[in-house]
Amino acid sequence: MRYGKYLAAAMFCVLVSGGTASAADVDRTAPRNPDWVNALKPKGTPGPELTLATNHTTTYAILESSQPTTQDDKAALDLAQYLQQMTGATFPIVKEGALGAVQGPFLSVGRTHLLEHAKLTAARLDLGKEGYAIAAQGQNLFLIGGSLRGPINAVYALLEEDLGCRWYARETASIPQVDELKFRPMLRSYVPVLELRDPYYWDAFDTNWSLRNRTSAIQASIPLEWGGNASWPPGWFAHSFSMLVPTDQYFATHPEYFSEIGGKRVPGQLCLSNPDVVQIAIAKVREVLKANPGVRFISVAQNDGAPLCECPLCSAVTEEQGSKSGPLLNFVNQIADAIAPDFPDVKITTLAYLDTFMPPKNIKPRPNVVIHLATDSHAWEQPFLTVDETQKFQTALKAWNALGAHIFIWDYTVNYSHFLAPMPDMPVVTPDMRFYIAHGVTGIMLEGAYINPGGSDAALKSWVWAQQMWDPSLDTQALIRDFNYGYYGAAAPPMQQYQDLEWDTWVQNHHGSMTSPDGGIRYSPTSPWLTGDFLTQATALFQQAEQLATDPETSRRVAVAKLAILYVRLCAGPTGPEDVPAYLQARDEFKGIADRENITTISEGPADVANDLVRWSMMAGRAKIKLDVPGTLFADGTDFTLAMWLGAQAPSLVEDPLAESGYAVRQPGDNTQWSIQWHFPLDKLVPGKTYQLRVRLRADKKGDDGPAFGGGVWDSSKSGGPGQSFMAKDVTTDYQWYTLATFVPGPNQIIYLAPANNAANIPAIYTERIELVPVDAAQ
Ligand SMILES: [Zn+2]
Repeated sequence: MRYGKYLAAAMFCVLVSGGTASAADVDRTAPRNPDWVNALKPKGTPGPELTLATNHTTTYAILESSQPTTQDDKAALDLAQYLQQMTGATFPIVKEGALGAVQGPFLSVGRTHLLEHAKLTAARLDLGKEGYAIAAQGQNLFLIGGSLRGPINAVYALLEEDLGCRWYARETASIPQVDELKFRPMLRSYVPVLELRDPYYWDAFDTNWSLRNRTSAIQASIPLEWGGNASWPPGWFAHSFSMLVPTDQYFATHPEYFSEIGGKRVPGQLCLSNPDVVQIAIAKVREVLKANPGVRFISVAQNDGAPLCECPLCSAVTEEQGSKSGPLLNFVNQIADAIAPDFPDVKITTLAYLDTFMPPKNIKPRPNVVIHLATDSHAWEQPFLTVDETQKFQTALKAWNALGAHIFIWDYTVNYSHFLAPMPDMPVVTPDMRFYIAHGVTGIMLEGAYINPGGSDAALKSWVWAQQMWDPSLDTQALIRDFNYGYYGAAAPPMQQYQDLEWDTWVQNHHGSMTSPDGGIRYSPTSPWLTGDFLTQATALFQQAEQLATDPETSRRVAVAKLAILYVRLCAGPTGPEDVPAYLQARDEFKGIADRENITTISEGPADVANDLVRWSMMAGRAKIKLDVPGTLFADGTDFTLAMWLGAQAPSLVEDPLAESGYAVRQPGDNTQWSIQWHFPLDKLVPGKTYQLRVRLRADKKGDDGPAFGGGVWDSSKSGGPGQSFMAKDVTTDYQWYTLATFVPGPNQIIYLAPANNAANIPAIYTERIELVPVDAAQ
């Protein structure tokens, strides 16, 4: 949300929603470690001992009412499927009224007559939409659930919690196989506290995975006949003003519908005090909801970035309420009131962030309004601190709760510039979730590595946090162990030690000091706490895990997790020329895994793995470079800021056998953009010393006419600086040094290099490196 996060998520929603509802199970299995312990073991009253199957046969039948719901049908089918996988026995599914000679005992699913006659207290419980109860009478077992996914949740609670089945990662299953299935079910009922339970990772965007792990995630698309999920109409998940009252349609004729900024009406945001705007918005919301039956939410929220209306009417409400959330909530409440009678199951979500972060003094959100509160000022800025260690966010949360608002949390759990950098935040996220819930929160989304697989610990985190969103009392360390020993088989011990290492890293680094205040990057994969002992120990643990993994699927799982460690190693560069062969081997290993797993994107943005692979090769090439003058600082494509946003005019990293390192940055000659910039590290230079700025460069050349390139130093405090241009006749097709400036480096300076828009003569230039050479090395 900061810098368009909401937009990115919303766009993704459009791309994948509705995708995988009918996906077939293609579950891959791998052996479980014999030391596995069930961390989901249910609490409750032990019921009677039941023997569901012996020697691949069962006396049980699965019983449905004569008119089962579609959820009952799905629950019964999945129960039969997995009990069959566990025991080898076929469990018939029968409907009351078509029982024939079937005598029971029964596994009763949903609201059967058998349940009614049993007069069990559990059957009378209010299980809401998604709660479940497991009850027993004699040898009959009852699986009961609330109105939506309740019966299915009951079945999966039994399979996972009582019987130890697991679906850790999407398209994988871990089903214990037994000759005799004898157990005492734990009699219990449970209603989840969170309505939105969303580990927002690619790993969790799968219908079957979500159903089994009981998440209610925006991207998982659970079909309505299975009870559905937390759903918004496509595109209506976050910022929506531009769709509610489109600028194209209204601004020319009704500028007064839009926000007044500095005395002028401007397109984009809306004037929230204009009654016509309210009516247009109500009509639009109705239209969208009619077109999307079954959705549970729709967002009425400001566009990202632009300020909200400052007209006298809006300003008066802002003034009186002490926050711009005042006029926003007034507006949202009117829409909520208008749609409530016709759409009683739909809630309107709106965004509390930036200007609307703090609640109004006394405008209470309607019961069908949800405040979507983002943790910008907490998890985004300080991902390794617990929420009670940062002040600003908890102040807002408590104030919204005091106002009686329904609150959903938008939390941040990954490094958005480096999805693969290890992120030791397991000790933080769960206490935070518990804090949110203790302060009235009823929905949580943890925005992680959502673009493709390959986020660090993404499968583990998705699974652990899914369990805790369902039941926040579950112990994090026990769940981590459950995952490692259930998922990594023989390789579990070192994989568990790797998680312990991450946890200890958080503890030993006093967690607060792990984030560098560098404006949004948050921390880098080359942070000292990652590249030192952590990398050495983690590398050794993965080596052990690889040796212990004996089956191909376990090896595959270890390899995917290892990408995080390879990533740190590759970003850090070779330790010296002697390390280059091993470094290049690590690069090839990374490429092999990424190709196999379809991992193309490891930051929030366009596909970048291909570019990273070239950059890492360049870093290997750097190790070959010998500097002429001591004290010289040099940079190549791995250090430059490259203007990738220029599209066809953007520079690119290329292999170049003529370059000493084997690599160069190519700038197309058809523009004059400063498409290479070097924000050089001043702390690596001697203060006050004079340096010569030079570039090692060659050109593609077709003629001698006109200019070739230019570059120099730009000092933003002086709006200028020394530089030099070169003509086509002066440049060669072989690498040569060109001196651009002689200057004393200082703050506010950057170095730039630009082509000269003379593609007819100079189609492209190639820069191998730029150097700052001390003018008098002996000085
Ligand atoms: Zn206004």
